[in-house]
Amino acid sequence: MKNNITVVCGGGGFIGGHLVADLRRQGIGPIRSVDVKPFEGWYQKFDGVENLVLDLQDRVACEKAMQGASVVYNLAADMGGMGFIENNKALCMLSVLINTHLLMAAKSAGVDRFFYASSACVYNGSKQKDPSITGLKEEDAYPAMPEDGYGWEKLFSERMCRHFREDYGIATRVARYHNVYGPEGTWDGGREKAPAAVCRKVIAAKLSGKHEIEIWGDGNQTRSFMYIDDCLKGTQMLTHSDFIEPLNIGSSEKVTINQLVDIAESIAGIKLMRNYKLDAPKGVNGRNSDNTLIQKAFGWEPSIPLRTGLEKTYAWIHEQMVTRARSK
Ligand code: NAD
Repeated sequence: MKNNITVVCGGGGFIGGHLVADLRRQGIGPIRSVDVKPFEGWYQKFDGVENLVLDLQDRVACEKAMQGASVVYNLAADMGGMGFIENNKALCMLSVLINTHLLMAAKSAGVDRFFYASSACVYNGSKQKDPSITGLKEEDAYPAMPEDGYGWEKLFSERMCRHFREDYGIATRVARYHNVYGPEGTWDGGREKAPAAVCRKVIAAKLSGKHEIEIWGDGNQTRSFMYIDDCLKGTQMLTHSDFIEPLNIGSSEKVTINQLVDIAESIAGIKLMRNYKLDAPKGVNGRNSDNTLIQKAFGWEPSIPLRTGLEKTYAWIHEQMVTRARSK
């Protein structure tokens, strides 16, 4: 088989689905999209793409996925927002099988480029205690004290990419994503992340007329959120570059969770009474992306304002909720 296929692992998921869409827009092909979820559950489905339902924790499945592959994006992982990763550490760590078997199969198939989606959860927890944090630099991952479970798996898999590059010459590229959000992703069910969860709660309050919202933690924890379009641009830029170290791909527009709620409320045109659930999983106190390195390497950084991206996300989730309510 000709080695010219672009493979998106996790193509039935949020970022993977958007990546397949973007590759198609650019006329890049042939494309293979792989996910463990039944095809009906994929967020975005496309004609003209080889869609495979495979469990990439399995080595033989990875060999099938890598046949004829040239460029590989590994976006497949068992993951979710803080509520999921704090309560499913073993499941999160099992994603190590995906990246391990994919790398082994990619080596046998002789792929040209291998992208791995790591996370800001690899950063040392002791550097994220203060909500007024300016930003995490790439060097802040060591000495290692990442998020338990999910973060340890990401850090180990990053390291595996590095050694496959050094020892076997596979051109691996690693991005540390900071909270990615947008339409066509998880917005309920327990795996959703803060922007989608906040939009859903605000919409539910508006639709029901019960003007209250539950917020996890005291709402003063800080984060940055990157809109999907910036994520796609950074991902492809890094994949095709000569930049070999793990790189932050994230927005540096830091907000508190309370400010995130303010924005969602202003999109909805309502004000809600806030109930703070202090014992809910809330993650670190402060996290933001330091973009010095990405600016230096590419003269670019994610810059879509949170308000702009949240308007699109809100509109999409609103549509999903209204459609679901009608079909009941
Ligand atoms: P997602 O859950 O929407 O997509 C991941 C996809 O991987 C899912 O469709 C899932 O079914 C699939 N998958 C899980 N196990 C699999 C397996 N064994 N075989 C094949 N497919 C499998 O998540 P996402 O937001 O699109 O995240 C994509 C990648 O980016 C993940 O590696 C995630 O850890 C990383 N990441 C995401 C964010 C974010 O904010 N979304 C932040 C940091 C890192």
